[in-house]
Amino acid sequence: MIRPDWTAPLDAASDAAKRFLASLPDRAVGSSASLDSLRAALGAPLPDESTDSAAVVRDLAAAVEPGLVATPSGRFFGFVIGGAVPAAVAADWLTSAWDQNAGLYAVAPAASVAEEVALGWITELLGLPAGVSGGFVTGGQMANYTGLLAARHHVLDRAGWDVERRGLTGAPPLRVLAGAERHATIDRSLRYLGIGTDAIVPIAADDQGRMRPDELAAALDGEVGPAIVCAQVGNINTGACDDVGAICDAAHAHGAWVHVDGAFGLWAGVSPRLRPLVRGVERADSWATDCHKWLNVPYDSGLALCAHPEPHRRATGVRASYLIHAERHERDPLEWTPEFSRRARGFAVYAAIRALGRAGVRDIVERCCDLARRFAGRLGADPRIEMLADVTLNQVLFRLTDTAGGAQRTRELPARVQADGTCWLSGTEWRGAPAVRISISNWSTDEEDVDRSASAVLRCIG
Ligand SMILES: *Cc1c(COP(=O)(O)O)cnc(C)c1O
Repeated sequence: MIRPDWTAPLDAASDAAKRFLASLPDRAVGSSASLDSLRAALGAPLPDESTDSAAVVRDLAAAVEPGLVATPSGRFFGFVIGGAVPAAVAADWLTSAWDQNAGLYAVAPAASVAEEVALGWITELLGLPAGVSGGFVTGGQMANYTGLLAARHHVLDRAGWDVERRGLTGAPPLRVLAGAERHATIDRSLRYLGIGTDAIVPIAADDQGRMRPDELAAALDGEVGPAIVCAQVGNINTGACDDVGAICDAAHAHGAWVHVDGAFGLWAGVSPRLRPLVRGVERADSWATDCHKWLNVPYDSGLALCAHPEPHRRATGVRASYLIHAERHERDPLEWTPEFSRRARGFAVYAAIRALGRAGVRDIVERCCDLARRFAGRLGADPRIEMLADVTLNQVLFRLTDTAGGAQRTRELPARVQADGTCWLSGTEWRGAPAVRISISNWSTDEEDVDRSASAVLRCIG
């Protein structure tokens, strides 16, 4: 066996990583590189000859450094990104070094068991029923896709249609009742599933973005035939959570499957204080969530969960004569995701939960919500700012009130804040008008980050 020098490249990576992470408190949060400068720094003819591995790592780190956005910073508030806790980052490095193929127990028994244990812990943390099945996927997109695969299988199976064999041509029509404020990944999943976005029956949302259960009940009234309801906990703009209990009442009375997109909102379940926001969520049929958002595990880490293991496995599982399938007690991860070979994502999830404990996960979630209220308080006290939604979770949504050109100035504000560099946030549209959104989902954000950032935002209004 070739015995390469592992030490030099791994040490180079470790040095570069530690330098970057140590720079987070002080560096500008946004990238300082232009497209042209990045192309100049990274671009080169396809190399013919080999280069020393440690030199490659050092050169790569130097070339990308100016083009890195400090998303692990406590002052990154864009989208819903979250950072990564140290134990999870370190476990993620080991995952690469171990290079386990987490498809099969036979080739990756430790990865399979780490996932099994992490799945049980997450089920408990989120307050979901014991014994749910789960697949470790790349993120919320694939978790929604996987949950909806199980849903598609189940509702068509009950209508006497074997979708895995026959496909959707000629299948009983399937309706998907989804909140008007659903995430774009629901529509995208339906495209991939062959169900198509025309199958969506949009259900009106209230002023916070929550699906209205009375509208759902009305839309289901008299409904016959296969139906899937897509609920959401954690609206990407407002953080608002659908009333999943009421949605389950209405949907289950009509035999519909309830899938919950809980990419970040599902984590409210770890907090006794916030748990009322997701009351009833345990009665749903499938759930999508992310570990790379609020649990603060590095990308890529999502989780598809299902209350009905058999439909889940029948929708996603696979058999091949050259594989070594689990026999009785082992768990083959590829039975539960649309993927075959893949990274052993469970190690980093396991490490994050082990390091934080239940109390640590709860503290992150509660602290982020407290900080969101603090941020909203600082901004809302300024007469130039109008808050657009209640801060019930970790999201803050606002616009500039300025009657002359407020919409345009609201649209321009995120770029000005990004250029200032103190923090990073982004824009959106809310009820047809430009708005600015702030997401607090990083474990390391503290009050000083919020105060400095709120001052920067107010300064950038000009
Ligand atoms: C982030 C998010 C998604 C998509 O998740 P990815 O991890 O980016 O694939 C889906 N739904 C909601 C509500 C989200 O916040």
